[in-house]
Amino acid sequence: MESDKVINFQSLSQNVGRFNLRNKKFLVPQMNRIGSHLLAATFRGFGIDAKVMENHKGLDLGMEHTSGKECYPCQITTGNILYFMKKEEERLGESFKPESYIYFMPEADGPCRFGMYNKYQRIVLDSIDKLDRLKIGSLSTDDGYSLSGLIEEEQVKDLRKASYFSVVVADILDRLLWRIRPYEKEQGIADDFIENSMHEMEDTFAEYGPGNEFDKILGKLEDIVREGRAIIDPAIPPKPLIGMVGEIYLRTQVHANQDVIRVLERHGAEVVNASVSEWVNYTTYDRLRDAKIGFRLNLKQFRLRAMKEHLQKAVNFGAELFYQQSKQRQVYKSVRSLIDLAEDHKVSHLEKILKEQDLFSFDVGTEACLSIPGIVEYAMEGYNGAVNVYPFTCMPSTLTSAIVRPLMNKLRIPYLDTPYDSSFQPGREAAIRTFMYQAHQHFKRKGRKNFSGHR
Ligand code: SF4
Repeated sequence: MESDKVINFQSLSQNVGRFNLRNKKFLVPQMNRIGSHLLAATFRGFGIDAKVMENHKGLDLGMEHTSGKECYPCQITTGNILYFMKKEEERLGESFKPESYIYFMPEADGPCRFGMYNKYQRIVLDSIDKLDRLKIGSLSTDDGYSLSGLIEEEQVKDLRKASYFSVVVADILDRLLWRIRPYEKEQGIADDFIENSMHEMEDTFAEYGPGNEFDKILGKLEDIVREGRAIIDPAIPPKPLIGMVGEIYLRTQVHANQDVIRVLERHGAEVVNASVSEWVNYTTYDRLRDAKIGFRLNLKQFRLRAMKEHLQKAVNFGAELFYQQSKQRQVYKSVRSLIDLAEDHKVSHLEKILKEQDLFSFDVGTEACLSIPGIVEYAMEGYNGAVNVYPFTCMPSTLTSAIVRPLMNKLRIPYLDTPYDSSFQPGREAAIRTFMYQAHQHFKRKGRKNFSGHR
């Protein structure tokens, strides 16, 4: 007799993966709020019934179904899906059909635990009545988050382009908020403005995303930026500029990081957080890098077939990366002609920093590849401090901290680690206040290298 405790390993491959989204409700977890909403709107434009799930309400359920050894984002996202399904069952009663949903949980290949979230969640879902019928839609960094198989093949390319564009535009709206909120004329208007702008942008992506009419989307974004910059009160003097890096979920999810950007702003900061498109570009860059390495290794042994395969991959990922970076450049160029938002880092430039300063290697992988050189770049650009935001026990971020902290001490630039779990640390506010005091001192001593007035 089979015990309830036996894990059905077949389910890990059969019920986690790429599934066709037609006639399903596609559930998008909320990471950065704007990004998730624009992505869901883009999918809706392609006729997919996509919905962003509420965040953080199911944390108790997440805790109940985890042991405490998992990363905090795993507990949050597990709770979110369980809470959502519970509410759907309550709402729909007898007509609740878990098989009519696809829950989206991407993954990254090693060496950290993100690759295991969807497997772990599969085990949890399989242990709950009816939820074994809910499939987990997963995309992997392994193939650069390819969308193949999700919708009709002839639409995959357009969906991918529109999805990437939505990620870049969401980054811009986030950066616009962080740029204008510390200088707003009236308290609260920047938040309200960005919230409305996000909804307008959702409609824009649903309408113009499927035809890849990016000029129209960009036109709308420019209108928003023009309106947004009018929120800045030019009489408010510039503030210390703080660069933020860290684990992607924690640094972009305001509930999870206890709204750390707003807390920093309360203590007089203007903050620039690392973008989400930087991570997407990194995954493509890393696949290209792997293909090049594979080609070189096979060339040494003159394995013609393997060489050809790696060369083909290199060409494909190279073209993909070129497309992504040129689109990103186009958006930043047009927006930066209207307001001085921070530019994004090019991934090849970040790898160059690591090599030149012999700090870390892309061979190791993980987000540390971006966070370590990201902080070094902030220091070189004249930022007044840097913050590393991450889940308690996160491996890549702990690595980042170990490498960057002595470096920042040497450069005499304020640096703060902010690890988060579900608890509220009594000393957190004091640590942020102290950090911001140091950042103010740095600002007084060195100013802000790149600040050329409010524009
Ligand atoms: S990046 Fe950190 S939090 Fe995310 S899976 Fe890896 S170890 Fe966990």
